[in-house]
Amino acid sequence: MELNINSVQTEREEIEKCSLCKIDSERGDKDYYAVIDMGRDSENASADDVVTLEVVCCKKCRSNFIKRYIVPKAVGVMFPLVGVVLTSIRSVYEPMKAVFTALPLVVFIISVIIGVVVAYSLNKTISSKANMHTHMKISEIDSFKELKDKGYEELKMDKFSSIPAFKKADKN
Ligand SMILES: [Zn+2]
Repeated sequence: MELNINSVQTEREEIEKCSLCKIDSERGDKDYYAVIDMGRDSENASADDVVTLEVVCCKKCRSNFIKRYIVPKAVGVMFPLVGVVLTSIRSVYEPMKAVFTALPLVVFIISVIIGVVVAYSLNKTISSKANMHTHMKISEIDSFKELKDKGYEELKMDKFSSIPAFKKADKN
């Protein structure tokens, strides 16, 4: 990728095969662009300090990112929901209150904690599985080396993966 960061703020890759597939012989077709922002701290902040990059991405890599982002949250939120429902049913919360008054609240708090723990471990498991096929940390691919050397970091990511947006690619 040729990056001219001083004159343009959006750089789009012009290749036909996925940049994010790890195994060269299995690289998918260009179906999407994964869009990420990279930025750096600078004393004289200017627009040049944030660059938007559109990286060629196949269907499978996109679905890896989406699964990784959505599944842990969707599953994790079920636990507090069940906690709310359970502790608001009279035949459940009254016996609990008979044990001690704050027990329904304690049960709810525990359901939130379980939800967070489950979401975290799902995030970890799904990321590491997806990472066997897809570069889940997009800025770790070779074409970003130059930017990283200049002090640019990906702006939206967590411990396990980048959090890109996606654009449909035009077919040639
Ligand atoms: Zn791919």
